[in-house]
Amino acid sequence: MLVVMEKTATPDQIDRVVKVIEARECTARPIPGGDRVSIGVLNNKGPVDAALFIGLPGVKEAVPITKPYKLVSRETKAEDTLIQVGDVTIGNGHLTIIAGPCAIESEDQTLTIAGHVKKAGAQLFRGGAFKPRTSPYSFQGLGEEGLKILAKVRERFSLPVVTEVMDFQTFDLVEHYADLIQIGTRNMQNFSLLKRAGESYRPILLKRGMAATIDEWLMAAEYIMAQGNHQVILCERGVRTFVHHSRNTLDLSAVPVVKKESHLPIVVDPSHAAGRRDQVLPLSRAAVAANAHGLMVEVHHQPESALSDGAQSLYPEQFELLCRQVVAIFKVCGGDEPI
Ligand code: PEP
Ligand code: MN
Repeated sequence: MLVVMEKTATPDQIDRVVKVIEARECTARPIPGGDRVSIGVLNNKGPVDAALFIGLPGVKEAVPITKPYKLVSRETKAEDTLIQVGDVTIGNGHLTIIAGPCAIESEDQTLTIAGHVKKAGAQLFRGGAFKPRTSPYSFQGLGEEGLKILAKVRERFSLPVVTEVMDFQTFDLVEHYADLIQIGTRNMQNFSLLKRAGESYRPILLKRGMAATIDEWLMAAEYIMAQGNHQVILCERGVRTFVHHSRNTLDLSAVPVVKKESHLPIVVDPSHAAGRRDQVLPLSRAAVAANAHGLMVEVHHQPESALSDGAQSLYPEQFELLCRQVVAIFKVCGGDEPI
């Protein structure tokens, strides 16, 4: 923490800040500048709360230096984390493509789509059995029946499956069937769910909250890791902004920022960011060029009759093209980079 004093701060006011710091058993180091003094807080054991200083006479601002997250941080673990989902490795040096419908609608629909995405080159299959829908009257998912269909996909196509868990009550069930458990944007700060995920033996795909800062997102990952589960994959899926030309705004700068701050893998979901099919391919190309570790893409063979997110679901041929293009981009841009 650096406490920046007003230009007009008096020696007494500086002294008072020093005393507040020393009362927390930290070292205060006043740093005289050209026209103002700043006071460094040293030897703190954990994060220092800026609220201690804001509002004290003579204090202009309090700037946190140490990040509040530990386990997710590169300072704690410098080397990249690789996560194994079935026989698929996710993380630096790998481009993992996850694809499938928004929702599991029927066995026929699911197996048809799985055949298409497997042929095109997807390494993991996605599909929601429990759907977080904005309207309670929309299709809510097939529940356990959907999970059983996902298990058939794994068996028939040798594709590990990822599916969303929505609540604590169904966690055990989802954990039993899923190879990778998704926590969706609406639950990113559901702390009891995060703690349960932290006790899971499955890897977790943690989507960014639709209005979450990167710090909040990383703190959500910290919740999972603090319980002992260190297998966390982050997923950028767009944040809510003022625009109407897309459902959300894909924040691609999150990729280099997260890769700098954290050792955890980060994948990008262009489908929920775009909300419409015609933006998914360009956003996917950009995400891979930005060095994301993978993509999660919605695909449907009959998107016009999909029960959820048809407008953003790619036709199988479009998905094939996407795979060809992003694999080529990965050959040029992928792989290790200096942090
Ligand atoms: C999904 O992946 O099906 C989903 C609902 O995504 P999000 O939580 O990002 O909206
Ligand atoms: Mn969807």
